[in-house]
Amino acid sequence: MPIDTGPLQSASHQSWGRYPKASQRIKPMFWPSEGFSVDLQDGKVLCQGLARSYGDACLNDGGTLLDTTGLDRFIAFDEATGILRCEAGVSLAEILRVFVPRGWFLPVLPGTSFVTVGGAVANDIHGKNHHVAGSFGNFVRRFCLRRSDGQTLLCSEDCNAEVFRATIGGLGLTGMIEWVEIALKPVTNAWIDVETIRYDGLDDFFRLSEESERRFEYLVAWVDSSATGNSLGRGILIRGNHSADIHLRSQPPGAGAALDMPFDLPSFVLNRFTIRLLNFGYYHKQLRRFSRAIVPYRPFFSPLDGIGHWNRMYGKGGFLQWQCLVPVAEGRKAFREILATVARSGLASFVSVMKTMGSIPSLGLLSFPGPGVTLALDFPNVPDSFKLLTRLDDLVADAGGRIYPAKDARMSAGHFQRFYPQWRNLERFRDPMFSSSLWRRLTGEAA
Ligand SMILES: Cc1cc2nc3c(=O)[nH]c(=O)nc-3n(C[C@H](O)[C@H](O)[C@H](O)COP(=O)(O)OP(=O)(O)OC[C@H]3O[C@@H](n4cnc5c(N)ncnc54)[C@H](O)[C@@H]3O)c2cc1C
Repeated sequence: MPIDTGPLQSASHQSWGRYPKASQRIKPMFWPSEGFSVDLQDGKVLCQGLARSYGDACLNDGGTLLDTTGLDRFIAFDEATGILRCEAGVSLAEILRVFVPRGWFLPVLPGTSFVTVGGAVANDIHGKNHHVAGSFGNFVRRFCLRRSDGQTLLCSEDCNAEVFRATIGGLGLTGMIEWVEIALKPVTNAWIDVETIRYDGLDDFFRLSEESERRFEYLVAWVDSSATGNSLGRGILIRGNHSADIHLRSQPPGAGAALDMPFDLPSFVLNRFTIRLLNFGYYHKQLRRFSRAIVPYRPFFSPLDGIGHWNRMYGKGGFLQWQCLVPVAEGRKAFREILATVARSGLASFVSVMKTMGSIPSLGLLSFPGPGVTLALDFPNVPDSFKLLTRLDDLVADAGGRIYPAKDARMSAGHFQRFYPQWRNLERFRDPMFSSSLWRRLTGEAA
């Protein structure tokens, strides 16, 4: 029988991109066994992890957020199989902190480790190893889902299989994930052998990616989004493998953020001109075309985790992230057009990342990852960015691709329903008390 966990706190809330803002009641969760009860006056509910989604996937304007970060306990670990069971509010950073010194690593890591296991399942996150590993959901063995009627469902590929698939990449809409079992993988040490290659344009990117996919577990490219002409798509390709050196066993130092952005930068600091300059500087900072190093895993996987509150760089108004996936066959042509459109707009993105994805199918009903090429860009929250991104959505739709909801704050319902025609199937599994700002925006569901 669910019991109430105490008075609700009201708060104005935002996600990592700081746009949009939402006003919602927050209900901290500490024990999964407490369950939750929500009065109708509290509106719809939604779980929130570490709010590292960029837009409104983790917001519930006018409703209630269940803050699951208090569900942060490890439950069991099997040394023989590497299967870890933990509560859904445990962060990936915490798993790495505890398990890397014991010789285990996460099978999939996104560009930040400050993400909860529940958030990783709900967005079926992907990492630099998608071409060989697939996405997070591929490593989820079981989880326990609590519904608003007090029912708990054990879900796996063999048990409540449809709910299992609807919850992976299900945008938090099927209920509250209490705990998850994931398969960790063994590593020799905490270091990565890395190669960094400066390349000249889009054709080079595709050639280098194809060659690297065969030999490297991790692969990603930073792209100079302001480059044009023959240099369109130029950037720095980073590829790596776990080091197998048995003499390097220790955990590299430095958990958490080493630097902090203590205040909001005025919005004029990151403008078209300075971002172009930063792009130019970053591209040319790699003096040699090729370099090789052995680096600790943290800066390799999540370089921005070293700067606390880096999202303040865009000022109080926040910024917009945009990530697309375009099928392989259309990839080159579509990416040429997308990058040329960005360059022509005069708006430049600083954190621009491009990657070829693999063909291992995602388990989730609505998962974003799939075969093709992905590009992530960010832009200041100004009217011109909205216009540009709608144009880019059109190009992605024409190429048969899709946009990542975890990073979205503004795509239209029409685009979403074209990108994810299976969205109505999710409605069959959605908990009737659960909804989000994103879901209402993209499906027209009433609050
Ligand atoms: C710097 C940076 C880099 C990133 N890089 C990547 C990347 O490389 N690849 C990638 O895929 N993503 C990436 N992301 C996005 C991020 O991984 C996802 O948005 C992730 O889901 C955030 O997890 P969270 O714990 O912050 O969840 P939140 O953002 O708080 O919530 C995300 C979703 O999970 C649901 N949810 C959370 N907990 C539960 C629960 N217990 N039960 C049910 N639903 C729950 C929420 O309702 C919401 O729908 C990046 C984000 C940042 C800020």
